[in-house]
Amino acid sequence: MRLTEEQKLKLEQILTERWEAAHGCWICGSDQWSLSERLFELREHGGGRLQLDGASVPIVLVTCHGCGNTVMLNIVALGMM
Ligand SMILES: [Zn+2]
Repeated sequence: MRLTEEQKLKLEQILTERWEAAHGCWICGSDQWSLSERLFELREHGGGRLQLDGASVPIVLVTCHGCGNTVMLNIVALGMM
C-alpha cells in the first residue's frame, strides 16, 4: 500500500524531530536515509504456511544510503493509525 502525501509529510516530520538524536547509521555512520514510499506489513510466522489471520504490524522502512541498513518503524506506535 502506497503512503498518502499526508502520511509521508507526517513521517518526515516525526523523523526530523526524533531521528536526529540517533546520530546517523550505527553501522556505517552515514546520515543519509530514505523513507519507503509504501506501507508494509510484518506478519506472524505461520509455521511454513501463509497465515492471513495471524497478528500483523504495519511498518514503514527507513534505509541508510551508505550501507543499506534498513529500520522498520511501526506506524501504530508512531500514532499514525
Ligand atoms: Zn549505514
